Amino acid sequence: MSSATPITVAYGDGIGPEIMEATLHIIDDAGARLEKHVIEIGEKLYLTGNSAGIEPGAFESLRLTRVFLKAPITTPQGGGFKSLNVTTRKAFGLYANIRPCLSYDPFIRTKHPKMDVVIVRENEEDLYAGIEHRQTFDVMQCLKLISRPGTEKIVRYAFEYARAYGRKKVTCFTKDNIMKLTDGLFHKIFDEIAAEYKDIENEHWIVDIGAAKLADTPEAFDVIVMPNLYGDILSDVAAQIAGSVGLAGSANIGDGCAMFEAIHGSAPRRAGQNLANPSGLFLGAIQMLVHIGQADVAERAHNAWLKTIEDGVHTYDIFKEGVSKEKVGTKEFAKAVVARLGKKPEILKSVDYSRAPRRPLTERPAYVLSTEKRECVGADVFVFWTGTTNDLAAKLQPLAGDGMNFEMISNRGMKVWPGGMPETFRVDVSRCRFVIPEGTAGTVSHKSIIALLDRVTNAGLEFVKFEGLYNFDGKPGFSRGQGQ
Ligand code: NAD
Repeated sequence: MSSATPITVAYGDGIGPEIMEATLHIIDDAGARLEKHVIEIGEKLYLTGNSAGIEPGAFESLRLTRVFLKAPITTPQGGGFKSLNVTTRKAFGLYANIRPCLSYDPFIRTKHPKMDVVIVRENEEDLYAGIEHRQTFDVMQCLKLISRPGTEKIVRYAFEYARAYGRKKVTCFTKDNIMKLTDGLFHKIFDEIAAEYKDIENEHWIVDIGAAKLADTPEAFDVIVMPNLYGDILSDVAAQIAGSVGLAGSANIGDGCAMFEAIHGSAPRRAGQNLANPSGLFLGAIQMLVHIGQADVAERAHNAWLKTIEDGVHTYDIFKEGVSKEKVGTKEFAKAVVARLGKKPEILKSVDYSRAPRRPLTERPAYVLSTEKRECVGADVFVFWTGTTNDLAAKLQPLAGDGMNFEMISNRGMKVWPGGMPETFRVDVSRCRFVIPEGTAGTVSHKSIIALLDRVTNAGLEFVKFEGLYNFDGKPGFSRGQGQ
């Protein structure tokens, strides 16, 4: 038997301590070899003025153990408190969020008895990069960032996961019919990487119709990989339609560190009453045991849990007259699972982790600098303006130069000059495009852009930001205005 694996444990708030005790009770009795380092997180720290909600020494513990089993916490109402989950994910580069969503029909009510979907959500980028600005009186902005290395990592993780767990298909959801550059990159990289995994089927859905299909016919999906926002929303939908968000566990995986948790919150109204269902955190802990190479323990504990569910021993949240046999509290549920260690379910499918991989599932790829020719061809200058568009255009037209034409004004992405429509609603920031005409040779120096911004300022206009326009191997790396 191998020696104990150090892990960091946080009991959290609300029902957190009860479900953590129950989870540890089961996995310890199943034979988990763990050296637990307990840290303080959550409400108590937030309320003493620690805006991160985690004690200063806790990151040292995480750096040492690189494995975090975390109970839910209560985030106090009001502003100024940073999300502990986001901080931990970003600080330790936990780029993949894995949420298995499985139905336990006929023992837990669901409209989708055959559902068995794993959502692989990108965890660090997209609109969650947290780059937001108030530009003007009217306009707030949130930047959506999708990177090639970030996307390659998550998509490869999804295919490696599918291969390791004997899954047949990986589906990708994006909105690349609208966001052609950001979601377009995610889709393109999905196609590139999918071609390397000939043993696994692949498909792409536009996220809106894909989400509708997922909610209606989840059995049509196997593994689904998505950018951060769609994954956040749809993993909750998937968990709920499988039976209950209270049953889903989640893993946040990075190159050298991982965090495991339930997907539900701290349910403060249920705290301290021995009522809560520990299954979400328990199933997160199962993913942890597989991750640290204790697949034998994971399998023993998971099969005993499935047998308990099948025997109708249920906590209040999943108890159903006619199906359930015994309504139990948190502690009694854990005892019932422990009593079934060594048993397997008879109707539900038992788990087999014998082929499960040891970490890491993917290695960090070596960074390869692109060989594409990158050339600056102009700038979008975002100008604060409350007057008419024609007046703004008249002020900007004389400012073209250094090979750049004054090409367009758009408002909220819609072209309003030249040839805008009077019906188009306008807010107080306009995007003004100065660019070398398409198909014309030449580049623009950064000094020329500074000179352009200087001319804009001298014309009495206020720019709130500018964005460089680049061609890559002659192809524009920027979108056209809508209607352009
Ligand atoms: P919640 O998930 O705590 O509760 C939603 C509902 O589900 C409640 O009715 C609750 O009684 C029930 N429920 C949840 N887990 C259960 C369980 N294990 N057993 C039985 N019933 C359960 O969501 P909420 O009420 O919106 O949030 C409560 C607090 O949790 C908030 O402070 C929120 O910020 C926090 N939260 C934390 C995390 C986290 O730490 N990862 C995640 C989500 C919410």
